[in-house]
Amino acid sequence: MTIADKLHSIQKVLTETAIACGRDPSTIKLVAVSKRHAIASIEEAIEAGQYLFGENYIQEAAEKIPQLNHGAAFHFIGHVQSNKAKQAAELFSMIETVDRYKLAKALNTHLEKIERNLDILVQVNIGRDMKKSGIMPDKTEELLKQIASFSRLRPLGLMTIPPLTNETEETRNYFKNLRLLGKDLAKQGLFADNKNIELSMGMSHDFKVAIEEGATIIRVGTAIFGPRSNKI
Ligand SMILES: *Cc1c(COP(=O)(O)O)cnc(C)c1O
Repeated sequence: MTIADKLHSIQKVLTETAIACGRDPSTIKLVAVSKRHAIASIEEAIEAGQYLFGENYIQEAAEKIPQLNHGAAFHFIGHVQSNKAKQAAELFSMIETVDRYKLAKALNTHLEKIERNLDILVQVNIGRDMKKSGIMPDKTEELLKQIASFSRLRPLGLMTIPPLTNETEETRNYFKNLRLLGKDLAKQGLFADNKNIELSMGMSHDFKVAIEEGATIIRVGTAIFGPRSNKI
């Protein structure tokens, strides 16, 4: 199958899954995760109508994004070192992985200088997995309260990567917990738009379950672009 075929089949599953659980498919965005895939593959996806992409490595994205001037938008979904905040603030339409005060502050400081606002998500370590990044669920409220004082950051919602498991129901529980956490924080008015918060969850192997549990952003790589190469 070509990249276009795979994109269309994912869009089809997205639409069917949304309708089956009573959701409007147009409220769910597909981020095509293009990390460690070549420019030619991204261009193929753009040709097929995809405009939103996800990258994990600042250095790689800084090389790729300027070569793609077709109006594609990029989300950052990897770990941001605070010393890369400046670059990250300039390259991406959204940073999904803000998980600490120091990073939020570094982003805001640079955004003030360049007079730009930036959409962000707070990455939550919903499985409390010590090896994973993301803020612990019970610390999320505090971080969002701190972010509220950073005028250039627009916190739109939450993102998570749950622990890997073969148990679909376990994964479903993690997604559900992220949704409930988001709902609670929205009730406290901690997001930029508390009526419509973004929940970024679900990858190639579990995006259907994520949609059933309320995902508004799914991040799909392998199922669109195939296996990743070690270098590009
Ligand atoms: C790589 C990556 C994805 C895509 O994973 P696939 O299994 O290839 O769909 C999604 N989210 C994050 C944060 C990633 O790093």
